[in-house]
Amino acid sequence: MAFELPALAYAHAALEPHIDARTMEIHHGKHHQAYVTNLNNAIAGTDAEKMSIEDICKNISKFPVAVRNNGGGHYNHTMFWTIMAPNAGGAPTGDLAAAMDKAFGNFEEFKKQFAAAAATRFGSGWAWLCVKDDKSLCVCSTPNQDNPLMDIAECKGTPILGIDVWEHAYYLHYQNRRPDYVGAFWNVINWKQVAENYKKAL
Ligand code: MN
Repeated sequence: MAFELPALAYAHAALEPHIDARTMEIHHGKHHQAYVTNLNNAIAGTDAEKMSIEDICKNISKFPVAVRNNGGGHYNHTMFWTIMAPNAGGAPTGDLAAAMDKAFGNFEEFKKQFAAAAATRFGSGWAWLCVKDDKSLCVCSTPNQDNPLMDIAECKGTPILGIDVWEHAYYLHYQNRRPDYVGAFWNVINWKQVAENYKKAL
């Protein structure tokens, strides 16, 4: 069964003014679609066709680089679309908020660390909020389309929130101003989905 581009749960323009419609259209319809197409081509006729994208990531060192780049691209973007929503933002509540306080001191300190991870990732990559093996939360970043599920990642864990800091994610609207894009991202985070990801990761 080939991998497929997941549909967006909202319109391309739904995240404006924080993320513009044209960026969403190209990012989802062209960039993510290319990762899906190239992943399917890379695994055609191999056992990976029967694996979940999570299991492919967890065993990524056994695969060619095309699977790492495009499989990571598919996993990362599939999560990315779901952790954003229109009329979202604010702050987490409940167990996730408590875990954040425990790991970072408070929500503002988490935001500072996450924004710093996004800002300082040189070149293309992602910043993440992850659940580690010991169930605690951590912030980290990965290059290119790697992610913390991958067995080759420097920081390992289950991602529950991620921000794409490839230029294709923000350049049309923000040009070189990555920090402005990261600042706007707080307004579109779907904390309900992040809390569900957290519960599932435990
Ligand atoms: Mn992207």
